Amino acid sequence: MKNIAITTDFSEQTVYTKRVRELVFNIYGYIPKACVNTFGCQQNVSDSERLKGMLSACGYEIVDHMDDADFIIFNTCAVREHAEMRVFGNIGMTKKIKAERPNAVVAVCGCMVQQEHIAQKLKRSYPYVDIVMGTHVFHRLPEFLYKRLSGSPRIFELSMDNNTIVEDIPVKRDGTFKGWLPIMYGCNNFCTYCIVPYVRGRERSREPEKIIAEFKEMVKNGCKDITLLGQNVNSYGKGCEHGINFAKLLRMLNDVEGDFVIRFMTSHPKDCTVELLDTIRDCKKVTRHLHLPFQSGSSKILKRMNRYYDREGYLQLIKNAKERLPDADLTSDIIVGFPGETYEDFKETLSLVKEVKFASLFTFIYSKRNGTPAAIMDDPITREEKGKWFDELLKAQEEVAKENINKYLGKTYRVLCDDFGSRDGFMTGHTNGTAVIEFKAEQNLLGQFVEVKVLGYENGLYGEIINN
Ligand code: SF4
Repeated sequence: MKNIAITTDFSEQTVYTKRVRELVFNIYGYIPKACVNTFGCQQNVSDSERLKGMLSACGYEIVDHMDDADFIIFNTCAVREHAEMRVFGNIGMTKKIKAERPNAVVAVCGCMVQQEHIAQKLKRSYPYVDIVMGTHVFHRLPEFLYKRLSGSPRIFELSMDNNTIVEDIPVKRDGTFKGWLPIMYGCNNFCTYCIVPYVRGRERSREPEKIIAEFKEMVKNGCKDITLLGQNVNSYGKGCEHGINFAKLLRMLNDVEGDFVIRFMTSHPKDCTVELLDTIRDCKKVTRHLHLPFQSGSSKILKRMNRYYDREGYLQLIKNAKERLPDADLTSDIIVGFPGETYEDFKETLSLVKEVKFASLFTFIYSKRNGTPAAIMDDPITREEKGKWFDELLKAQEEVAKENINKYLGKTYRVLCDDFGSRDGFMTGHTNGTAVIEFKAEQNLLGQFVEVKVLGYENGLYGEIINN
């Protein structure tokens, strides 16, 4: 399938950005404040960094709390029902803010509002929401803000455009030494339980030059841990004329000068090629971590999920990965209790977990998403029963995790000091995969690489800096 996207720039919105800057000063008479509330995955975190970039360019100061904000935006997630309920609760709190300060502007964007029934609910039941914008138009925030502040009626813009990528959107990154870099948008896979292709649209890959330029800029600004983002980064470049696939892109980024590590998420097992595994092995700056969501150990359920691989295919992939990257941390996502799953199917998931010995797992009980094919499949197993299976899975993974600890003990890793530890005078950082180590360190080492030897395990790995 062709994924050729037209790349456009932000110039039209730059005009609106200037206009908003003038307008807000006249309306408020002071530097207005904006609060961006983010729900969901790293893609949303990354999009929010662009929302903050646009708002800063529009003259807003970014604040953490919405209480005294003049502009409040909710960047929402549609993956779980629980998250949607939380978002509505939060939006409800802005009613009071709007009553006290009518000049405040409230907006909602992200995957949740791309669903027609949600947009309708916001229109009907949340009259104090000023702007609702979908995932394909969020770069038009300056335009919407300008129109609304100039007295236009409430704005609802949910149009989808699967052919365009907008570049040069201003970015205000949350971190200095860790950062997100989107390399593609959307998904073509249509797993039967997933809402993403409906709300984020078809797969579109950014031009390699644009990615490399942004990557270099991040490195120049001191970023040392960069995560490449996409719904399925392994299929980067598919159908594009430039002929750069994900493995080639990784090699190009690995060759960029500087001291940094590269991570990526998330991957679909069907697109994880031997070429990619060899590339990770060869690229010293790429971390030894493979997130390969298998979702179910039963081939019957995988077919119902429309995952394009079966149990045997997945285990062959793991074999290939372990041969080439024996030290890598393997992680995965699992859905328990998919419609039609029996206890026998679930036991196949359990046995796969025990066989592969994942470093960690993201486990979920199946959550129905309206509008997906799975939502209308027969689902006779009770929630209570699924809960029991889920507990069984957690227990199995706990055992695996205990065994896994041994692989780290006594080893030395080059670690980026990325957070303060649980005690004063301690910091934490990651191995070359996903495990976190705590160690004694001067606090000014935050954001620096150090060599850490793992000494033991007590509620987590601990170690000491050597040869700093
Ligand atoms: S690969 Fe499947 S689960 Fe992942 S985003 Fe695409 S449709 Fe959803």
